[in-house]
Amino acid sequence: MEKMSHIPEKGTKKRVVIVGGGFGGLKLARELDDEKFQIILIDQNNYHLFQPLLYQVATSAIEPSEISFPFRRIFKRRKNFHIRVCRVEEVLPDENRLLTSIGFIDYDYLVIATGSRTNFFGNQELGDLTMQLKNTSEALFDRNKIIESFERALNSEDEREQGRLLTFVIVGGGATGVELAGALAEMKRFVFPSDYPDLDVNRMRIILVDGADRLLGAFTPGSSDYAERYLKDKGVEIRLNALVKEYDGKALTFVNGEAIETCNVFWVAGVKANGLKGFSPDTYGKGYRLIVDEFSRVKGMGDIFAIGDTAIMITSGNPHGHPQVVQPAIQQARLLAKNLYRILAGRPLQEFKYRNKGAMATIGRNSAVVELNKIRFSGAMAWMLWLFVHLMSIVGVKNRLFIFINWMWSYVTYDQALRLWIRPEEKQKKVS
Ligand SMILES: Cc1cc2nc3c(=O)[nH]c(=O)nc-3n(C[C@H](O)[C@H](O)[C@H](O)COP(=O)(O)OP(=O)(O)OC[C@H]3O[C@@H](n4cnc5c(N)ncnc54)[C@H](O)[C@@H]3O)c2cc1C
Repeated sequence: MEKMSHIPEKGTKKRVVIVGGGFGGLKLARELDDEKFQIILIDQNNYHLFQPLLYQVATSAIEPSEISFPFRRIFKRRKNFHIRVCRVEEVLPDENRLLTSIGFIDYDYLVIATGSRTNFFGNQELGDLTMQLKNTSEALFDRNKIIESFERALNSEDEREQGRLLTFVIVGGGATGVELAGALAEMKRFVFPSDYPDLDVNRMRIILVDGADRLLGAFTPGSSDYAERYLKDKGVEIRLNALVKEYDGKALTFVNGEAIETCNVFWVAGVKANGLKGFSPDTYGKGYRLIVDEFSRVKGMGDIFAIGDTAIMITSGNPHGHPQVVQPAIQQARLLAKNLYRILAGRPLQEFKYRNKGAMATIGRNSAVVELNKIRFSGAMAWMLWLFVHLMSIVGVKNRLFIFINWMWSYVTYDQALRLWIRPEEKQKKVS
């Protein structure tokens, strides 16, 4: 029998339970007044993570702590605000209750903002043998793996094995794949030759693979061409219209039978929602996203809402739902906060209208693409804008400052300062 979790009585206030302190959940928690509601923020981690810079953790440019911010620091000294670090397993809508790893939690209003995870399209072997980039531990794993591959290549006397260790394949040519390929190309040029003078670093291959006919599918073809040209110029091999069939840890095989021998495959080829269990099958849309109406209310539910990556809101302007990026999550959270006040006041709810603020992706040093509706540009100006926007979006002044210093240091010295290969010791493994 599951127990109730320890949460103070809500008194006369309505209790809003927010599951997930990512971009959507955090924004909502900040917009809600704890004088009007009792707010419970639940997350499986005790920190908010700024995912767009994870690739820089993987490539040794910044520390994980610089893009992570503890919830208890963000929300210190708030009265009717309670944080619980636990995993939500299931929603029990008939009982207005959540089943979590610390027991049951009851709600008056539930907001699901659980984001998404890597999609392997049913191929679990890919999940087990490739590197991913969705959370801090994966980014650190990737950082270790990159360095480990170089250290092993240095000591290998088998030329074929050395080739596999020095071959880095990135599957997924969206913004994350492009950013990762650009960062690895820079390490090949500026970092590895001086780190490994005994190794022929020219043997390092960086291969960016996508199933579509161009990179950056969410951008215009002009930006795709720019990214492709830039990466090719930096030595990245690009394979388009290439569908992956399988990977056994040594060779990545494509549907057409071709194969690339490699020990390093990054899988950044798509996401699947972290939709919670507990709803009927017709509540889940494409990519396991929870179907919501224009007020972010989960299909068929009166007091359960979903926002961000985990929700799909089909409108005439967005027949396939909104893109799974930061802006829809933040904008939906902002409107939902207003609508929860309207519910309290017995006023009609306001419909969600997405304001597309544009998209940007960095490709390498002095190089990015920016698309702001009709204004499109690339190159150094775009790169500076990308740096500025990302820096200003980081939670916490100290984090911003540290990232700025790290970026400036890397820019001036052409160095990635954090090339640490940190492995758990056997003793530590036994203890944990
Ligand atoms: C590498 C990478 C780069 C990206 N780059 C960009 C970019 O440049 N621009 C852009 O706009 N978007 C980018 N995105 C996408 C963007 O990060 C997401 O769209 C955004 O984070 C979605 O916000 P969210 O609030 O829906 O979910 P998230 O921010 O993912 O937050 C979900 C939260 O829910 C928690 N959670 C999940 N399941 C449970 C559970 N069962 N119990 C308890 N807690 C749970 C998680 O711990 C997490 O804190 C990138 C994503 C990645 C991975």
